Amino acid sequence: MSEPLGTDTFTPEEIEAARVRFARPVTFLMGAAKIEQLPSSDVAEVAFAGRSNVGKSSLINAVTSQHQLARASTEPGRTREVNFFTLDGGERLVDLPGYGFAVAGKKVTKTFQNLGRDYLRGRPNLKRVYLLIDARHGLKKVDGEALDALDLAAVSYQVVLTKADKLRPQSGVETLRAATLKAISKRPAAFPRVLATSSETGVGIAELRAEIAAALSI
Ligand code: GDP
Repeated sequence: MSEPLGTDTFTPEEIEAARVRFARPVTFLMGAAKIEQLPSSDVAEVAFAGRSNVGKSSLINAVTSQHQLARASTEPGRTREVNFFTLDGGERLVDLPGYGFAVAGKKVTKTFQNLGRDYLRGRPNLKRVYLLIDARHGLKKVDGEALDALDLAAVSYQVVLTKADKLRPQSGVETLRAATLKAISKRPAAFPRVLATSSETGVGIAELRAEIAAALSI
């Protein structure tokens, strides 16, 4: 049996410690447009990836309780840079460029553009990638390609469902979570837990903070 929304994975003390950790200021460090511009790899990082419009900016803002930290863009595919945010303890959150967007009607099928791919391959301090999946759409072909790329790069990743509030009926969230977990169960680098979140209602955000805190401590 899968756990309901992962809520019993962490103790209340762990959830609270993660809340306190993320309540401290998180600052924008830099945006890198080229591999040469990536900051030093001497502090622990976790990264967020997903299709454009999946709710990545909103999720980063929700996790840090800073509404303007990551730019929530209404224009899919606008953000091509890898953006770095520094936690109070020095660790970093990394916002990878969204993938799978359409440019002038032409589908860009490359999952991770060069920079994102290079980042994933050459980052020994990268503790985990959170691969975001829109709960209304579930795993799409392009997401499967992203999972392939992560498996190939041997980067530990965890699937996080976004916009769980939008799923109707709400009971579908648990079904989708279980189905997603099953779909990734044979993937070598997949973390065996799927979180359902909503930046709108706050569901799953406390657990995601605890997941990130745990991953950063590895
Ligand atoms: P990004 O392109 O992945 O950074 O996605 P954004 O964070 O900009 O969000 C894309 C759209 O989805 C925006 O209109 C957001 O308001 C909306 N959105 C993001 N997260 C949620 C959520 O948890 N629930 C709902 N209902 N809408 C969301």
